Formats: sequence, structure tokens, C-alpha cells
Amino acid sequence: MQRYGARMRGGDRFPNADLPDSPEARQLQAGFPWLTFDPDLETTFRRAYFDENLLHTRVNFCLAVVITIAFLAVESVVLGPELKRIPNMIHMLVNIPILLIGLASSFTPQRHRIYPPLALVASTVLGLGVVAIQVVAARGGTAILFPCLLLSIVFIYFMGGLIFYHAVAANALVAFAYLAAGTAMQLPGRDFSYDALAIVAINLFCASVVFMHEKTSRMHFLEASLLRELVSRDGLTGIQNRRMFDHHIQRVWQQAVREEERVAVLLVDVDCFKDYNDRYGHQAGDECLRAVAVSLSQCARRPLDFVARYGGEEFAVVLFEASREYVAEVLTRIQRSIAELNIPHEASKVASRLTVSIGAAFILPSSNRTPDGLIQLADEALYAAKEQGRNRVVVMEAEYHTMTTGRFEKRRGQRAL
Ligand code: GH3
Ligand code: MG
Ligand code: MG
Repeated sequence: MQRYGARMRGGDRFPNADLPDSPEARQLQAGFPWLTFDPDLETTFRRAYFDENLLHTRVNFCLAVVITIAFLAVESVVLGPELKRIPNMIHMLVNIPILLIGLASSFTPQRHRIYPPLALVASTVLGLGVVAIQVVAARGGTAILFPCLLLSIVFIYFMGGLIFYHAVAANALVAFAYLAAGTAMQLPGRDFSYDALAIVAINLFCASVVFMHEKTSRMHFLEASLLRELVSRDGLTGIQNRRMFDHHIQRVWQQAVREEERVAVLLVDVDCFKDYNDRYGHQAGDECLRAVAVSLSQCARRPLDFVARYGGEEFAVVLFEASREYVAEVLTRIQRSIAELNIPHEASKVASRLTVSIGAAFILPSSNRTPDGLIQLADEALYAAKEQGRNRVVVMEAEYHTMTTGRFEKRRGQRAL
């Protein structure tokens, strides 16, 4: 038998070779026949699932409160003064408060932690409350409240934002309570067996639909994560690409302005790389770029450090909270790690091994400037390193304060960063 989820494994939509090494990719490869992910991914998924359904869930809770009040009003009329007492009390003291508590918990700051277990308990209590109303009314000789029980089952499955297993657990308890209470209280046989069958059937239908819906949501979650990952990675080296560099530098710049921290950009360019390709071939050139990318990634590993392929044989490193000492430390590490790669480059004009030139710029960002200036400065430093003979580092810092080129100033219509 084909495994559930296997049909939609990564291989179908993402060729395996293109899949990054990530938990999402591994999960997509493995499938999820039991509608669960690996623990860490499961936590992230449930959070995303909750956020995705949050607005709808809130609207659904409001709807449920209104509908419960409507039922309460109708029951007050049709059940008569004696019989309506307990159902009305259950509506007012259990169902409506529990719905309001569920709704309120979705607004708390800790809602991701509080809401799921609370919604499970609230849904179960709501269902049991409706069972109690149904049993009381049936004992009193009327079965007209039965649709209310069916509605509560539908609510638990579809409207409270519960995951499949929670919805099934809550409804299993509700169905069991109804069947047990109906049997124990000897509800009229013909009606009761018909109602019991209806409850089992609606549970099966709804569970099947919720299962399909959640499976699709899980698949979308994995695919969306993978797509994000794929568009952010450089295809050759696997490190972040230029698009992510542009995104990251803007973010870091704004954070640095707020926190008054220094930012550094290091542009690392492989020396005489055209000659390398000519001498050893393009495939060897590609291998070489991969090796340089891995080395660079290992040189800047603080949480906000960032390494990307800037283009061709150029790489960019962004450092946040970049003190002079830290920039110097990273520069030394880079030079050492490239030397340790020990890649022969007989066609190089500067050494017998592969070398890099680095242009580094670090500054304290000011709010009336853009990160373009910082990149420009690093670019000029790199140019200077090439001019001075390659295989070296040039650092620029003070120049920033005196530069007045167009790229340094805010562009017309651009917001100050
Ligand atoms: P310089 O020391 O001045 O930096 O000289 P260079 O030869 O490294 O620089 P140039 O800009 O003249 O040439 C860059 C070379 O990088 C040319 C191009 O074929 C090669 N290159 C760019 N992207 C890739 C790639 O993805 N794979 C391979 N193998 N080579 C690449
Ligand atoms: Mg080069
Ligand atoms: Mg270059």
C-alpha cells in the first residue's frame, strides 16, 4: 500500500538534487503518514497553523456565542418553563463563558502556548454541555435539540482552530458521553439509535475532511519553507545569495541606527580567478568557490554575522556590533582559512596558492545615510587592495565621514534609515 504523504514527497515538486539540507526538506522526503512532523518542526508548524487560522478562529468564536444565544432564546420558548431551566443554565453558565474564555485566550501574548490546550478543554466542555442539554431534553420527551449537538461537533472539528488529533479526541469524548448517557438514562430506543448513528457518521465525515485539510496545510507549510530557503540560497555554493545580502544589510542597518552599533561589510574577491578557470577548468573553479564559501561561513559565526555570495567570485560578509578588534579578528580568520585551503593556483600573478583580496569598511551608521555608502566604501577598499598587489586587506573607516558622493546621500524620495 502506498504510504500516506508519499505521493506528495519532495521528489515530485522539488527535484531531490535541489533540496537544501533542512528539517523541512528531510520531512518532505520522509513523508508524514501520521500527520505529525519531527518534534521541533511540529512546534513551528503548529505555531504557523495557529497564526494562519487566528482571525478565522476569533470570528468563529464570536459566531458561536451569537448562535448559542439564539439557541438559548429559541429553547426558552419551545421547551416550556420547567424543561428549559437546566438547558438555559448550561448555556449561560458553561457554554457561553467557555466560548468567551477561548476567544479571550486567543488575544493573550502567550496565546501560542495557552490557546491549544485551552481550546481542547473548552471544546470538550462545550460538547459535553450540549450533550447534557440534549439528554435533559430527551428525558423530558423532546428530541428537537439534537441538531444543536451536531452543530457542536462541526464547531469542534472546523471552527476552533484545533489540530486533527485534538478535534478527534474532543469529539470522541463527546460522542462517548452521549452514547453512555443515552444508554444509562434509557432514552427512547428508536430515536436514540438513529441519533447515535448520525453522530458516528458526522464524526467520520468531519474527521476525514479535517484530516485532508490538515495534510494539505502541512504540505503547504513544508513547501513554503523550502521555497523561502531555495530563493535565499546561492545555487552553486549553498550559502546566502545576493538577494538575501540586500535584505540583510537593510535590516542590520536599521537595527544598528536604533542601537547605535557599528556595522562592517567585508568584500572578499578571489584573486586571478579568471586565470584559475583558464588553467584548471570551470568545474574546478566551481569547486574552488564552494570551498571558499564554506571557509568564509566558518569565519563569521556570531548570531548576526552574515556571509553571502555577492556575485561571481566575490563574497560579502556583514558584521553587526563590529568593533575594530572583532573586524580584525574575522579578517585574520578569513586569511588564515583561505591559506589553510591550500588550493594550488599556478596561474596566479601573486602566489602559488589561491589567495583573496579583501576590502573592509566599518562605520557607525547615521540615520540620514543608507547602507549603499558602506558597501561603496568596502568596494573602494577592495579596489585599493587589488591596486596594491592583491592577496591583502584594506580597511576603510574614517573616510565615511568625509564622503559626499551621491550614493552616500539619501536618494531623492528615499526615507532616512
Ligand atoms: P582579480 O584578481 O582582479 O579579481 O582578477 P579575476 O580574474 O579574479 O577577476 P575577473 O573579474 O577578471 O574574473 C572573474 C572570473 O570569475 C571570471 C569568471 O569566469 C569567473 N567566475 C564568475 N562566476 C563563476 C562561477 O560561478 N564559476 C566559475 N568557475 N567561475 C566563475
Ligand atoms: Mg577576482
Ligand atoms: Mg571580482
